[in-house]
Amino acid sequence: MSDITSLFGCNVFNDSVMRERLPKDTYKALKSCIEGNRRLSDEVAMVVANAMKDWAIEKGATHYTHWFQPMTGITAEKHDAFISAPSEGRIIMEFSGKELIKGESDASSFPSGGLRATFEARGYTTWDPSSYAFVKDGTLYIPTAFCSFSGDVLDKKTPLLRSMEAINREAMRIVKLFGNESVTSVRPTVGPEQEYFLIDRKLCEQRKDLIYTGRTLFGAKPPKGQELDDHYFGAIKPRVLAFMEELNEELWKLGVMAKTEHNEVAPGQHELAPIFTTTNISADHNQLTMELMQRIAKKHDMVCLLHEKPFAGINGSGKHNNWSLGTDTGVGLFTPGKTPEENLQFVTFIVNILMAVYKNNALLKASVMTAMNAHRLGANEAPPAIISVFLGTQLSSLLDKIENSTSEDGITLDDKKRMQLGIGSIPEVLIDNTDRNRTSPFAFTGNRFEFRAVGSSANCASAMIAVNTAVAAQLVEFKNTVDAKIAAGQSKEHAIFEVIKQYIKESKAIRFDGNGYSDEWKAEAAKRGLDCETSVPKIYDAYTKPESIAMFEKLGVFTSKELAARNEVKWDIYTKKIQIEARVLGDLVLSSIVPVATKYQALLLDSANKMVKVFGEDKASKLGAQTLKTIEKISEYIDSLKTNVEAMVDARRKANRIESEQEKAIAYHDTVLPFFDVIRDNVDNLELIVDDEMWPLPKYRELLFIR
Ligand code: ADP
Ligand code: MG
Repeated sequence: MSDITSLFGCNVFNDSVMRERLPKDTYKALKSCIEGNRRLSDEVAMVVANAMKDWAIEKGATHYTHWFQPMTGITAEKHDAFISAPSEGRIIMEFSGKELIKGESDASSFPSGGLRATFEARGYTTWDPSSYAFVKDGTLYIPTAFCSFSGDVLDKKTPLLRSMEAINREAMRIVKLFGNESVTSVRPTVGPEQEYFLIDRKLCEQRKDLIYTGRTLFGAKPPKGQELDDHYFGAIKPRVLAFMEELNEELWKLGVMAKTEHNEVAPGQHELAPIFTTTNISADHNQLTMELMQRIAKKHDMVCLLHEKPFAGINGSGKHNNWSLGTDTGVGLFTPGKTPEENLQFVTFIVNILMAVYKNNALLKASVMTAMNAHRLGANEAPPAIISVFLGTQLSSLLDKIENSTSEDGITLDDKKRMQLGIGSIPEVLIDNTDRNRTSPFAFTGNRFEFRAVGSSANCASAMIAVNTAVAAQLVEFKNTVDAKIAAGQSKEHAIFEVIKQYIKESKAIRFDGNGYSDEWKAEAAKRGLDCETSVPKIYDAYTKPESIAMFEKLGVFTSKELAARNEVKWDIYTKKIQIEARVLGDLVLSSIVPVATKYQALLLDSANKMVKVFGEDKASKLGAQTLKTIEKISEYIDSLKTNVEAMVDARRKANRIESEQEKAIAYHDTVLPFFDVIRDNVDNLELIVDDEMWPLPKYRELLFIR
């Protein structure tokens, strides 16, 4: 492997390249634009574009693309060559400031949820200078935001950037409240731990379900699953290791700080975690990571499955979004401090997060919910689809202590008028928050919150938009309440302390440190009034509840029109996912499974008949009793398969006739999806009976164990 330091970021137009290649003034102007303080002038853009082009051409690029993240969750790109019309017979390589800043793109092939009137197919991409451009596959990639002609948001980046602005603004007010004058910005950061499966490419190609839906629609459990827990952190197989090495190198070249990699709990499952950075850059990097994982796996004759639940009965894959807030002065706002003031600020943030998650638990669930992730949240073997927060014993007891203290013993001023907090020294042990709870969807892990309910194939942005916005809104409310108390004559510290106490009481329902996978928790959560809805299409309603609309609008993240449109897109995507699965399921059953089962049944019948010839009817029916039973069973399974597939197709036809996207998605959930389990049961039963050599699909035991 080459030297990491020379490799890292070698294909990125990053700060050091900018410093080296841009005139001082241009560099300064761009820098200030990146930090969000200034708009870029046309002249500066022109100079930057030219430098970027020269640099990219040196790196072998011939094209550039405005890279964006439409609502489908994947990334999109349209490549244009640098060349422009020949002048005096010579082709010249050109890239103007205008081309850097703004691109026009045909938006009609991307979902808009009705935001883009059919007669206006144009959409615009605008450069996001906060995420560095890079060269990949002979193309200069320019990270951009994507909106419609009339300015409505059509992507995931724009609202993410807006939510970052909102939380910066509101968290700054809190930081200032605590007297931190040197801080000039607060940034939300995320380090997404990416889980994935690797399976053999040839085997994968033999399974239409994996090819078309990313998951196995049937498959009996393997004789050896994850019972032994011997895969987790176990030795990595050479083929997988070679993949990981290449992946790391390619990611490093693109400036992605891939750091840890290890096997996960399930056989065939692995994880990659980068070093955290701002939510915007991290989301871009995660998209790149997922893309490269899939591409590089193929080179090693494997397929990378990013689906949330590729195998029933085996652990699913998530994307644990380790989220926190950090100041430009390098202070983590969820990191306990050393002084009482710092600790009061720490507690203030923690308690406000609790309140935000409590009030928006339905919305946060909606932000991570998809047809695929539903198999991880709320389905049979999955934890319930309920958002709760794990704090760990130390932080919990600290909050209990604050809740039960009177203002007087909780907070006093010493003779130098310095605040004395009854909680002064406690948080130091928090750093070592070892009693982690792996079953919690939103867990405090020492200096950050780990939003674990996010699905492995999701774009990080959706979850981060919801978290950033919910927390920003909560901070607004906190600040207003504290200000009112101060205006009424209370000291700042007392005001803060009182509001915190009240919040600790109010948000109790969201705190849960027990086993999140248990049935008792489901019952308990319902009693506490937490959102327990399991139907994906209905879960999306959380976005368009009046409180949510008011919150998103007030903070300038989404308009109500945009929210409504995005739900239309989500319902449509949900429907399509289930629709495709239903088709593949029906097709595989009728054209592969049933014929093979029938053939095997015929073999058995044949042998039963031969038995009669040899032994006579009486003895043969005794000797062949088990065979006859098997034949009977196969008949039952086949019959049930045919009946259920037919009924499923009917249900699908009916659902397809529904106009409203929402109702159609609900119909798919309520009337089509329920057939999946019944059909699967029959197929899995057949898999266990039918001759192994005849079975048309590679089995779990083959898929899950890479050699
Ligand atoms: P674990 O498996 O113990 O949860 P990993 O090392 O797999 O830990 O992943 C932890 C992730 O959390 C990494 O991406 C890391 O960069 C990120 N992280 C660490 N500290 C913070 C923080 N303060 N804010 C955001 N992310 C963080
Ligand atoms: Mg981890």
